Amino acid sequence: MNKDLLVNKFEAIYVASQEKLRFFFAPGRVNIIGDHIDYNGGKVLPVAISLGTTAIVRLRKDNIVQMSSTETKGKVRVDLDKEIAYDKRAGWGNYPMGVLHFLKATDMPIFGADVLFTSTLPIGAGLSSSASLEVLTGFTFMTLAGKEVDRLALAMLCQQVENDFIGVQCGIMDQFAVAMGKKGQAMFLDCSTLDFEYVPFQTGDYQLLIMDTNSPRELAGSEYNDRRLQCLEAVGVINSKRPIEYLCQATFSEIEELIEDSNVQSRARHVVWENQYVHEAKEELEDGDLKAFGECLDASHLSLANDYEVSCYELDVLVDAARSFPDCLGARMTGAGFGGCAIALVHKDAVEKIKTYVGGRYEAATKMEARFYVCDVVDGVHEV
Ligand code: ADP
Ligand code: MG
Repeated sequence: MNKDLLVNKFEAIYVASQEKLRFFFAPGRVNIIGDHIDYNGGKVLPVAISLGTTAIVRLRKDNIVQMSSTETKGKVRVDLDKEIAYDKRAGWGNYPMGVLHFLKATDMPIFGADVLFTSTLPIGAGLSSSASLEVLTGFTFMTLAGKEVDRLALAMLCQQVENDFIGVQCGIMDQFAVAMGKKGQAMFLDCSTLDFEYVPFQTGDYQLLIMDTNSPRELAGSEYNDRRLQCLEAVGVINSKRPIEYLCQATFSEIEELIEDSNVQSRARHVVWENQYVHEAKEELEDGDLKAFGECLDASHLSLANDYEVSCYELDVLVDAARSFPDCLGARMTGAGFGGCAIALVHKDAVEKIKTYVGGRYEAATKMEARFYVCDVVDGVHEV
């Protein structure tokens, strides 16, 4: 949304004041490769993307925080002198309220302010609009308090919001990527130890295309829990012969020889393969071998679809259609699966053609409209 329009909206919602307006931005994120291995001791490779959430903010003279969003109805009002607790009626407002709740617990001063959020991210599509909103809120209020922001601590606080305030048992990847992102760089991250390094995401004449199934991720929650249990089972079986902490430490021969349940065996196979693909993809990026990098994306999708069984018809249609296009180097679903988004690496000159082609195939196959986003790899949360 353009800045003047946003300011007009802000002024229409809140009482005028002499305090100056400030703007903050937090990106969304997409995981390039490495899905369903963050909880298995594997590496992930997310990037912060140019789609994101913007906050327009003005300090107040009292201890009240008011928050609205152009994306949804309802003004949220928080009295900073009182306990900030989860409130079902506050809906979306619980995300920023949770951040204020945990910030308060750190003894950081929080100042009263009026806030309007707006977003270019599709909400609930797997591009982490929630982490973007959380990290943005934290960064905004820390900056208003004149604090130097420790980005890693901010990511951890926001993960705690999602886990303990909202009640979603996610890992650290989303909040990490939104807080720590760097322009033109992917993050090669171990979600259990928080060891990480930046890897140049230089794709030359190729461009990251996000393809959104635009379909609800209904099964995502229950199937996710199921997979986690199967991974624990696999670790248990292998542990009876050799101590391992995480499934990623298993070898293919251990998986074949020790695990009898064929489903559990497939899940474990995906985890170990996927972790290898992440390492390979990182190396190919560093070597600038985009063709080989694209092959890692393809292989990862097949592993997620066939062995881990977390893809779905809609995601497969998008990925298959993109891959059948000569100017596409590789494509895969990304995130937890069962809907949400897929990514493709496509030639810059062919983006429009691919969108039309894949969009047409998708509509014919599903009677739904896919959404496409071309985005750049950008810096993490910052003031603008
Ligand atoms: P994802 O993070 O993949 O987009 P989630 O289900 O985790 O999906 O989070 C989506 C929720 O986050 C929305 O239902 C809403 O409550 C909240 N949210 C995210 N961005 C905004 C925004 N800009 N304005 C209001 N609420 C938002
Ligand atoms: Mg989310």
